[in-house]
Amino acid sequence: MGLGISRRAFMKGVSTAAAVALAAKAAPAAATKDRPNIIFILSDDVGYGDLGCYGAQHVKTPNLDRLAREGVRCSDAHSTSSVCTPSRYSLLTGEYAWRNPLGDHILSGLEPLSINPATTTTPGLLKQAGYTTGLVGKWHLGLGSKEKPVDYNGEIAPGPLEAGFDYAYFYAATNDRVPCVYIENRRVVGLDPGDPIEVSYGGPVGNDPTGKDHPELLKIKSDESHAKTIVNGVSRIGYMSGGQAARWVDEDMADTFTGKAVSFIERHKAEPFFLYFAPHDIHEPMVPHPRFIGTSSCGTRGDVIHELDWSVGQILETLDRLGLAENTLIVYSSDNGGAIKDTYDDGTNAEHGKQPPNGVLRGHKNELYEGGHRVPLLARWPGGIPAGSTSDALIGLVDMLPTFAAAVGAAVPKGAGPDSVNVLSALTGQAGGAPPREMLVLHTNANGPLGLRKGPWMLVTQSRDNFKKAELYNLKDDLAETKNIAKEYPERVRELIGLLEAEMKKG
Ligand code: CA
Repeated sequence: MGLGISRRAFMKGVSTAAAVALAAKAAPAAATKDRPNIIFILSDDVGYGDLGCYGAQHVKTPNLDRLAREGVRCSDAHSTSSVCTPSRYSLLTGEYAWRNPLGDHILSGLEPLSINPATTTTPGLLKQAGYTTGLVGKWHLGLGSKEKPVDYNGEIAPGPLEAGFDYAYFYAATNDRVPCVYIENRRVVGLDPGDPIEVSYGGPVGNDPTGKDHPELLKIKSDESHAKTIVNGVSRIGYMSGGQAARWVDEDMADTFTGKAVSFIERHKAEPFFLYFAPHDIHEPMVPHPRFIGTSSCGTRGDVIHELDWSVGQILETLDRLGLAENTLIVYSSDNGGAIKDTYDDGTNAEHGKQPPNGVLRGHKNELYEGGHRVPLLARWPGGIPAGSTSDALIGLVDMLPTFAAAVGAAVPKGAGPDSVNVLSALTGQAGGAPPREMLVLHTNANGPLGLRKGPWMLVTQSRDNFKKAELYNLKDDLAETKNIAKEYPERVRELIGLLEAEMKKG
């Protein structure tokens, strides 16, 4: 009992993984201590200061706090990139997204699958190890291919099922973008073939009203970039026509995704499973179910945090009800730091002002300062992770592939997850004095600037090809990055730039 279990799993080699895969083929059996279920919950745009267990005062997050109480709370975890798509790309591939032009930027709903189907992915590796793998929620990693662009009226492929998932119930891009429909495996859910979907991010399609021309139809006013087709009283990025019967209702999204996640767990309770649960909360537009409205003391943004916490609670309750909690590793994190400036005018900025989304950190989503990428990370695994523990080890979401492989005793194929490090020991408390990861490259979006973290030092650059204005911070003394000390430590700056350049030359 206790920590020895994860150490055993940690030490397993290729032969065991092969035997495990064979055994799994012969007769699926429920998860065990050495082969735990894994649930990875990735919320959208939740900042370092947004949860009670990270110091938030104006929201109540009892279910997320329960994960911290029963597991480990990490204080130095990073989303690797500071916006959605690249962060999610690195999570699923173990590769820095800035190495791949297909996955390094915020994708539209018409761009191709960013993950090469031949790549070993986090779900693909677990599937190979005998796990049933599922995605519920946000995808945002592209659909279709360059040769065969996605057709929302036909079979939607390649997509999640080609990236290692056995089952997927998801939306294509973001909740502020068209198309506003759910997709189950390879088909739009509830699509009437007589009312085909058309999507455009250029010129208008169809006759649906837009937010720009019909602001009187809107529940929430938006800036111009979000003022295109109105779906459910909310204008979006891009134009969409058709698919009326298939369009989502924002207020019901949390219930829909949570229900699908719960039923996935129920269906696969008797076999080891991996569930990647990616709620739309708390990404804008923030449109909670009416039962959450006004439940926080800091406006809509607080209310959607409550909705997210409720979703997490449903997952925990399901594990308890089915007797699966003991043998399930559950990890919660966020895909980037909190957003402060909302593009929808819902009063959130003013009301949420008393509780900064990123706590004491400088910056926000899309930036290289800590507020852009330092995120909450909680993990619970009874018997593997000591309850109520904390970890200050440097962790990137890019590390989940080998970390989950270690937790289930599977080998990582050569070349897979090229930028990842197995950080399981940081979660289980076995790291001792040696943190598993020494440095981490941080990324913003597309070909935006990169930063490098090593020990307490954080190098913040302004572009990829000119490091003259690079800033240096000592996070141990100055977590809020108030004092750029690059001039005081020129040798340290040179060292970090050298390390960053070496990383950029790889791959
Ligand atoms: Ca995000």
